Amino acid sequence: MLKIASPLAASLLGQEVSSTLSEIAAGDIVECVDDRPSRPDSLVMPRWGGLYTVASIRPADDGFSVRLRELTPSCHLGGLCGCGHCGWDAARFRRIYRPSGGLIAALQGKVCEPA
Ligand SMILES: [Zn+2]
Repeated sequence: MLKIASPLAASLLGQEVSSTLSEIAAGDIVECVDDRPSRPDSLVMPRWGGLYTVASIRPADDGFSVRLRELTPSCHLGGLCGCGHCGWDAARFRRIYRPSGGLIAALQGKVCEPA
């Protein structure tokens, strides 16, 4: 019964993104905007331009540390993270969508409507 027109979705998304760009929260869809390893032990890195889902975020040294659902970071103990506390600097990501209104399909331009 209710169809969401793309222009409306785009404007809603535009408002949301521009008004709350600085914060990332669990469940957000983020884009990697910096994939340069800054530490030699950063073996696993998100791809620049890649879209990821934030699994969790917590305060870290000088910012925030982000965990992604799609990737397991390398661990300060060696190998893939087994301690559960490793992550990537939140500054490496920009939030492009916070799932709240079911508009993610419109943002990604891959709308699949039920027949
Ligand atoms: Zn770890």
